[in-house]
Amino acid sequence: MNQLPTTTMASSPQTAQRVPTAHDDLPIPHALVQPAPVGARPWTMTLAGGGQIEGRGLSCCEECQNGEHDEQNLDPDRARMFLVDLCHTFHCDGFKADIFEDCHGRYTDTLLGARMYCSPYGHALEEQEPLVDIELGEGRHVENLTPDGMATFIANLREQADRLDNVRVQLVAARAEWNGEAPALAPRPADACPVEWCDRTGIHQGHCAEVPGIPVPGPLGHAYLGAELLDADDNGHVIAGFEGGGDWRDLDAAGLRAEIAKIRAHLPKLTALADQLAAIEADHHSADLGGAA
Ligand SMILES: [Zn+2]
Ligand SMILES: [Zn+2]
Repeated sequence: MNQLPTTTMASSPQTAQRVPTAHDDLPIPHALVQPAPVGARPWTMTLAGGGQIEGRGLSCCEECQNGEHDEQNLDPDRARMFLVDLCHTFHCDGFKADIFEDCHGRYTDTLLGARMYCSPYGHALEEQEPLVDIELGEGRHVENLTPDGMATFIANLREQADRLDNVRVQLVAARAEWNGEAPALAPRPADACPVEWCDRTGIHQGHCAEVPGIPVPGPLGHAYLGAELLDADDNGHVIAGFEGGGDWRDLDAAGLRAEIAKIRAHLPKLTALADQLAAIEADHHSADLGGAA
């Protein structure tokens, strides 16, 4: 979406209504008037010949927040360059990892940082609305991700993290085996069930392996998202029992995975809510300090 900057001319109240393109002269000093966006601080540029251009900012852009896009006293050529180069950005740091590469040897790289960007007057049409690049390592990017593209990348990343969790479990076991240590899992008790996945002991009806639910904070002792493998009739027909909202449902592996996918999709919303609350709490805290001063 090409949101056009607002020009206010000190000496010419008439502004021409025209739409700039990447290959056209940008609208200096005449520009289409666009309402200021809600929430974001607009950038401003004053022109050498008098007058001022104002354009929309993006709330998450650090440079917008700090007024770093603002320019003064630009001649028309530099004003055009300013518009073409204008880029709203938001950064998320990656994490450091030590890497070995055949041709480069050992080095530390930062992995999986992200950069959101938007060039409202840039040459690439798709970049005129916000997109994200994810940096795999220095100089290696997955580029131009839309929200849907980013969701796919994140889902794949989470599944990969699960696979890596399993690799870690195997690593712990492999190291224990290698070092001649006791296996990580406790030996099965003498009265363990002969059905290997069953965690019941002694004489019992059917077979069951339980993953207890997560306790709800508070005194009532409720829990949620409990699950179990169950062969109630000891006939080899194993299902997953899954507890949600107080009801237990019988699921097969695909059904349980579908519920896990829903829980995963839900977690970022909870995280965002916690972030919002933390910001509100910080505001109240500083207001309290201000009141005490
Ligand atoms: Zn900005
Ligand atoms: Zn059993």
